[in-house]
Amino acid sequence: MSDTESTQVPDRERFRSLLLAERERLLKQLRKLETLDQSASQGEEVGELAHYDEHEADVATETFLREQDQAIQRSLQDELHQVEAALNRIQDGTYGRCERCGKPIDPERLELLPYVTLCVEDANRIEGQI
Ligand SMILES: [Zn+2]
Repeated sequence: MSDTESTQVPDRERFRSLLLAERERLLKQLRKLETLDQSASQGEEVGELAHYDEHEADVATETFLREQDQAIQRSLQDELHQVEAALNRIQDGTYGRCERCGKPIDPERLELLPYVTLCVEDANRIEGQI
């Protein structure tokens, strides 16, 4: 039983390094956004001293861009949490199994999305509910 099971389990070391690389990429992007954010807020302080009304359009654009940045930041952090959760699953041996039905997730799917927690069927089912 354990033999047949281990052949179904994806190559953990391989996915672990994929996930670690992904985590590194996300952390880098988050750091970059933080640096941008800092320089943006410094610029804003100067801008506030100038005539506010004349720059309303610019401020709106800046606010929009910052909101966009924050949205990107949130999705990066979200992804980072998923990557870390996947690394934990590799640790405790539950990696590569669907959270809902417990069946092994298609390795091709894991290849594309190493931190995915659901099999294709369940993912589609959930998407259909939204
Ligand atoms: Zn499933």
